[in-house]
Amino acid sequence: MRVLIVEDEVDLARGIERALREEGFVCDLAFDGDEGLYKAKAWEYDAILLDLLLPGCDGRTLLRKLRAEKPTPVLVLTAIDGTEDKVELLDSGADDYLVKPFELAELLARLKALIRRAAHAPNPILEWGEIQLDTAARTVKKGDQPIPLPPKEYALLEFLALRRGSVVSRTTIYEHLYSEDDETLSNVLDVYVANLRRKLGRPVIETRRGEGYQIGALPAKSEQSPE
Ligand code: CA
Repeated sequence: MRVLIVEDEVDLARGIERALREEGFVCDLAFDGDEGLYKAKAWEYDAILLDLLLPGCDGRTLLRKLRAEKPTPVLVLTAIDGTEDKVELLDSGADDYLVKPFELAELLARLKALIRRAAHAPNPILEWGEIQLDTAARTVKKGDQPIPLPPKEYALLEFLALRRGSVVSRTTIYEHLYSEDDETLSNVLDVYVANLRRKLGRPVIETRRGEGYQIGALPAKSEQSPE
């Protein structure tokens, strides 16, 4: 999962980035609103963490301009604490907000919940066939057997599992699994897919030639959003 952090307090932004990387996210950073808006429009992020008081384009303006074009989930980081402001934030297109100072653990929990909601998978446990993937604990089991996965293999499996029933193109996978600073060769993806098939069973990930990859079954009814 790829997240954009728009925050002008460099130490805070770097701290969040470190915490997210430890959880297997890839992050891009923007230290002012103009850079943030540019990146938010240019790339497909799984979520954006948005500070409100920013040099250049302020957070509210960024949110308004982004919403005119894209539904990327946005978690606002705000120093304000008034009820009206919160209502206004949610009305203006923020998906959630967190009042500074916050605990990184809460930030991570809310961020994961936001990404699951966007994928219409409110349950943190994704199950299909014999496979069980816990998006909160970041663990995978096949039957009763825990299957330890390196971070990128886990990230690929989770990304596909949250989009079950859809073909996901290689370009989309690259956009969501790598930050702008990563430099990789395109055949690395084939290696991850081959590794996952070896560990979890060949049918777990289907190749749609010329289109991309797919985890076959649609989510079970009970896992779909009750909204
Ligand atoms: Ca700020």
